[in-house]
Amino acid sequence: QRKKLSKLKKTPAVTQDGIEITLLANIELPGDATPALEAGASGVGLFRSEFLFMERSGEQHQLPSEEEQFDAYRKAVLGMKGRPVTIRTLDVGADKPLEAAEHNILNPALGLRAIRYCLAEPQLFLTQLRAILRASAFGPVKILIPMMAHGFEIEQTLQLIAQAKKELTAEKKEFDAGIPIGAMIEIPAAALALPMFVKKLDFLSIGTNDLIQYTLAIDRADHEVAHLYDDLHPAILQLLQIIVSTAEKAGIPLSICGGMAGDLRLTRLLVGMGFRELSMPAALLPEIKQAILNTRFDTLQPYVKKILRSYDSAVIQETLGHMEALGK
Ligand code: PEP
Ligand code: MG
Repeated sequence: QRKKLSKLKKTPAVTQDGIEITLLANIELPGDATPALEAGASGVGLFRSEFLFMERSGEQHQLPSEEEQFDAYRKAVLGMKGRPVTIRTLDVGADKPLEAAEHNILNPALGLRAIRYCLAEPQLFLTQLRAILRASAFGPVKILIPMMAHGFEIEQTLQLIAQAKKELTAEKKEFDAGIPIGAMIEIPAAALALPMFVKKLDFLSIGTNDLIQYTLAIDRADHEVAHLYDDLHPAILQLLQIIVSTAEKAGIPLSICGGMAGDLRLTRLLVGMGFRELSMPAALLPEIKQAILNTRFDTLQPYVKKILRSYDSAVIQETLGHMEALGK
C-alpha cells in the first residue's frame, strides 16, 4: 500500500471530473522540507515558525537572532526547490508556551498570543519579518499572520512589513518586494467579518484547530473537554461555508491548514464545499491525494447540500458516510 502511494508522488491531485486540488505540507523545522517534497507536496502551506523559538535551552536560551532565523527560513525555501513556502509569523501563547512571553495570563487562549503578542513586541516582530523577507530572495515565500481579528491588526502588521522592507532596501539587502501577505482565519469574528480581510490581503488560510476551539469555547489543550471538540458541529460547517463563499466572491486564494485538511474522513466534504487548497502533515498527503483521485466532484453536491442544511449530528454523520462510500 505504502509503495503504491509513493508512486503517486508526481501525480497531481485531480478529481475524476478534472478539479485540481493543491496539496501542501505543514512543517515545523527547515529539515521537514525534504520529507514534504518526498510526499509530493506542491509547497509548504504552513511553516510553524514558533518551533524555532520554543524548547530552547543552554546557550540557545535567548530568542533566535535575525541571522539564525534567516538561515532557517532560507534552508526551508531552498529545500522546497522553487515551490512556495508559507511562513507563519510567531504564534506563541496558550498551547505554544514561550518563556519570554510568560506573564500573568488568566486565560492563555484568550490572552496576548500570536499576532497580539507580536504587535506588543514590535522589535521581536520586525526581526522576524526582516529574516522572512531576506529568505524571500531565495525562492517564493509568503507571509502568514496568525489569529487576526481586527482591522487595525492588519494595518499595523502591513506597516511593520513596509518598515522592514524600507530598512532592508537602505541596507541593500535583497528580498521579494511583492511578497504575498495573508492571514489565518481562526477566530469566528474573522470568519464572520471576512470582507475586512479580503481587501487588504493576498490570501487566507483557515486554522481549523483554533477556529473550533474558539467557536465551541473548548480549550484544545484541556483533555476534560476533548470530547466536545467536534469538527462536524453545524456551527463549524456554517463558518467554513461562509468563508469559502466570501473568499470565492472576492477572488482571494483560500486554503485550510488546520487538522481538518488532513482528515481523510473529511476530504470529500471539503472538496465538495469548494476548497481547492489543503495543507497537512506530509505523512498524510499521499492518502488524501488517493482519496481525491477517487472522487467525482459533481456527485458530491447533493450530499454536501444535505450536510450544510442539517442541524442534526446523526444526519450529518450518516450523510458523510454515504459520501465516503461513493465510487470506492
Ligand atoms: C490551527 O489553528 O488550525 C492551525 C493550523 O494553527 P495551530 O494548530 O498551529 O494553532
Ligand atoms: Mg492556530
